Amino acid sequence: MQTSKDPIAIAKGDGIGPEIMDVTLKILDAAGASIETHEVEIGEKVYLKGCLTGIEHSTWDTIRNTKAFLKAPITTPQGGGFKSLNVTVRTTLGLYANVRPSVSYHPFVETKHPNMDVVIVRENEEDLYSGIEYQQTPDVCQSLKLISRQGSEKIIRYAFEYAKNNSRKKVTCFTKDNIMKISDGLFHKVYEEIAKEYPDIESEHWIIDIGTAKLADTPEAFDVIVLPNLYGDILSDVAAQISGSVGLAGSANIGDHGAMFEAIHGSAPRRANQNMANPSGILLGSVLMLNYLGQTEVASTIHNAWLKTLEEGIHTYDIFKEGISKEKVGTKEFGQAVIQRLGKTPETLKPVNYHENKPGQVEKSKLSIPKETQRELVGIDVFLHHSAPTKELIDSLTSKNFGSFDLKMITNRGAKIYPDGMPETFCVDHYRCRFFPKESSSTINKDLISLLMQLTEEKFDIIKTENLYNIDGLPAYSSAQG
Ligand code: NAD
Repeated sequence: MQTSKDPIAIAKGDGIGPEIMDVTLKILDAAGASIETHEVEIGEKVYLKGCLTGIEHSTWDTIRNTKAFLKAPITTPQGGGFKSLNVTVRTTLGLYANVRPSVSYHPFVETKHPNMDVVIVRENEEDLYSGIEYQQTPDVCQSLKLISRQGSEKIIRYAFEYAKNNSRKKVTCFTKDNIMKISDGLFHKVYEEIAKEYPDIESEHWIIDIGTAKLADTPEAFDVIVLPNLYGDILSDVAAQISGSVGLAGSANIGDHGAMFEAIHGSAPRRANQNMANPSGILLGSVLMLNYLGQTEVASTIHNAWLKTLEEGIHTYDIFKEGISKEKVGTKEFGQAVIQRLGKTPETLKPVNYHENKPGQVEKSKLSIPKETQRELVGIDVFLHHSAPTKELIDSLTSKNFGSFDLKMITNRGAKIYPDGMPETFCVDHYRCRFFPKESSSTINKDLISLLMQLTEEKFDIIKTENLYNIDGLPAYSSAQG
């Protein structure tokens, strides 16, 4: 018997949040979950007080000093420079793994995929979600996609550990490394390295576009899928929707020092205060939380009672279907129906038995020691703003003598326009000019500064530069298209 309760932070959120959280807490209480709740206020009200992150500084202590955070969806006000609260909490607390199980509940919830049981493990801290964006010229904006070896290693190892602890057979990786050869290429490479450490688990890699098509068509061909942040965001909604409804899926955000649990859907403001919303997403989020806390028996009891409720056709409006469902109920009545079924197991749907596995427990991320690499500066890409005709820029640049440097190439949005450009290539006001030294030089750092000074003196409008390196003798930068 447990002697002390697990302290957890809860946020009731916005829109339908308070209704679905209240029902979930009643079910947790009735099932005997050993938790002590500490409520925090985050979201719309905090944003509208002028706090751009939606979370006040003082709130962090409660979240940090509890074992887990159960969060209802919140509303992010439009515009006004408000930052995503979810991204802030995930990155600030180092919650690197976003785990989203998508299961079909055929024949009780309509789906085209009766045998679907997929877990998406999404990288949660980097990629295009670093939020590093710039408008560089009147016509061109840039968003930085950052993929790190450590970030990739943590999430990929987490996916394999999750598979091992949950008796899953296969971990599939999705990337777009036929195009993003360096960034997605790193994620894929790390995946291949880590897969070797788990010879009992099948591994495979798909290019994200055809992989997504395959997932939407034949989800039963997949088991655990690990992927970078943006692809994971999109794919996990696709997976939840084709399994039956986005309203049914819960999600865990796991780090080495804490975890946050939530529904995958938003605050559905149009459904708020009408006792209509389906509380299943946050309830399944709380089941993931109980597993994380080691309360696997109570997690199984709640999940099985919930399956039994679905099986008996007691459905909220979003999954109600004439001919399949028996009774259309509101949020509170659905919660009461789950409470009445605590201790029961489903007959047609597969019951869960979490205490046989270790679903919430994954070894703390251990990182391999980075290999020593030789990094050599070999050139520079200088990005220029130029709004007059392209030919003028090419003529002007190619008529100059850049001393110890040669202008090797000019591209526009990655397409080569010099040398040997094609007249059809459409150009915007943002050019990349690649310079290499005429011969290798020990003073390349200083020479680059002289080159930039010359370009500035000659009235070229430099908007940014990017150093070009060879790493271990190989180019660590992309070549041009064309
Ligand atoms: P949404 O998920 O709130 O709603 C999409 C659709 O699904 C709506 O038709 C809604 O009625 C329905 N729906 C969602 N959850 C439901 C439930 N539990 N029961 C029944 N029906 C449900 O997405 P949206 O409309 O794009 O976003 C609304 C707000 O939520 C926005 O402010 C957005 O920023 C926010 N949001 C928050 C989170 C989060 O806090 N984790 C996630 C996504 C969106």
